Amino acid sequence: MISITNLTKRFGDSTIFSGLDLTINHGEIVVVIGPSGTGKSTLLRCINVLEHADSGQITIGETHFDSTQPRQADILALRRKTGFVFQNYALFAHLTAQQNIAEGLITVKGWKKEAAYLRAQQILDDIGLGDKGGHYPAALSGGQQQRVGIGRAMALDAELLLFDEPTSALDPEWVGEVLTLMQKLATRHQTMLVVTHEMQFAREVADRVIFMADGEFVEQGTPDQIFTQPHDPRLKKFLNKVG
Ligand code: ATP
Ligand code: MG
Repeated sequence: MISITNLTKRFGDSTIFSGLDLTINHGEIVVVIGPSGTGKSTLLRCINVLEHADSGQITIGETHFDSTQPRQADILALRRKTGFVFQNYALFAHLTAQQNIAEGLITVKGWKKEAAYLRAQQILDDIGLGDKGGHYPAALSGGQQQRVGIGRAMALDAELLLFDEPTSALDPEWVGEVLTLMQKLATRHQTMLVVTHEMQFAREVADRVIFMADGEFVEQGTPDQIFTQPHDPRLKKFLNKVG
């Protein structure tokens, strides 16, 4: 189980969120939706310690991290248990697809190069890019690049995958293949926390949808509860807007 308690983040004088609690069950797919600027990316970044929270405890299996006492060893342990998929892929331009996927295994997990490359090739096969391992990101389509981004996160065998709007930088023609790959991970019971504007994906794949606004979890429930029986006026307004 994954548990996040009392998570607080401030930037200077402005509090982005305060005292957030979130528990995610093993294999659960949680989708976070909500208006721009409400703290969704910051939430994900705090969970992966790309951003330092002002308070909060994060527990993933046996790994405990306390934001008020950030020990480097705990941060590394947490990063081994989480994979992050970025909106803009954030691939290394000077590394091939295979090297991009192998990189985390070598640097985060301490694998030998040969074993890491072998595993990377298996993942390339799995994500339908078995013949593209030698390509640099510039020679891949947006959808292919993002699949490599997901493959890189998959390589770590992370307990929790964090997705920050993985399809929003893509041309519409590439969105489907990325969502299909995410769907495939979901059927394997990969635990995922996904921030997305893809309401169709949320409806079809999420076990739970959380509507976040003004730094709070305003409403959460099954896709059916959130999309067909919304209560909070802010959620109703948001759904009207996104159609
Ligand atoms: P979007 O849907 O547009 O991606 P979001 O919900 O992901 O929005 P965040 O990116 O988490 O929102 O930003 C939440 C708030 O924190 C915003 O007001 C933003 O301006 C602010 N913020 C984010 N990063 C920083 C930073 N590094 N320094 C100062 N303020 C920041
Ligand atoms: Mg964001």
